[in-house]
Amino acid sequence: MKKTLGIVMAVTLFAGSGLSYGPRGHGLVGAIADRRVAKNTSVKAKVNQLLDGLTLQRVATLPDEIKTWDSNPNAFHLTGHQGLEDQLRAFVAANPNPKPGQSNPPGVPSHHEFHFTDVPVFGNEQYSPGDVGRSHFDIVQMVPFCIRVLRGDEPENNPRAITKSVALILLVHYLGDIHQPLHVGAEYFDAQGNPFDPSTANPGFADQGGNKLTLFTFVSGKLIARGLARKEPTNWKLTGAVDTWAEQLANEIIPIAREAHTRLEFTNIKIAPGSIPGKDDIKSGRVSEKKQSGGMFYANWAAATVKTEIHKGGWRLAALLEEILQ
Ligand SMILES: [Zn+2]
Repeated sequence: MKKTLGIVMAVTLFAGSGLSYGPRGHGLVGAIADRRVAKNTSVKAKVNQLLDGLTLQRVATLPDEIKTWDSNPNAFHLTGHQGLEDQLRAFVAANPNPKPGQSNPPGVPSHHEFHFTDVPVFGNEQYSPGDVGRSHFDIVQMVPFCIRVLRGDEPENNPRAITKSVALILLVHYLGDIHQPLHVGAEYFDAQGNPFDPSTANPGFADQGGNKLTLFTFVSGKLIARGLARKEPTNWKLTGAVDTWAEQLANEIIPIAREAHTRLEFTNIKIAPGSIPGKDDIKSGRVSEKKQSGGMFYANWAAATVKTEIHKGGWRLAALLEEILQ
């Protein structure tokens, strides 16, 4: 999603649907993992120490909250946890989000880029070996980076200013993001605003849908977390080395992003004059539900999907932490 053009996605679904989850969903992933990790005293102690006593549930939303520091350094403070706050501020300073119309020096990413990847949903591809929408600093690359920091394979004074504590905070959040279909799969549009399959030569414009569709609401996070931490989700276990998990997770969710996009219709796609394919996103657009001939309505399907993904996300986060902090 390179340079953002201040896109606003008008969503013409009934409220309470969507495939993305905001603070409550992230908090729920953290809360499930808190309960899972509590059973393992040595891992729990390490988490406590790295987070200065804060819970995974609390820190799960920090990587989004710190985006408010871009424009207002006093937007919020981590009162009582100055050491953590200083580390998070150093992280934002090392990966600054450029002001509109400006860009960072080459090789310096924005911390906003770390939350997603934009694998096209049009074709049949997986994360590898394609290149459209992927970057050295997308979520599939940053998750293993944080794992390396926590394991000591990457020094804490790395150019991204990701210390062990920051790495843990980011992992808690990114594990939530990578279980959101629209943070991984993206719709692309040609210069006329029609959906199409982008290529390196003709990269088009991405939808930035996942970041703008935050509509899902929960009944009661606390009650749900207890149940979801107890009940083992189906098909949640990952195999192989933990640093391959992010790519496995991305590949798992892409078909769901694909299904979401077949259930939705994008209209009034606007591309700002002078936009550069492969660099800029669309300016605005409308997404609405296609008429269903029987079957589930999008909103119900989306709600069920989100719940399943949060459930798996929480269990996988706990398993990941046990694997790397053991
Ligand atoms: Zn995020």
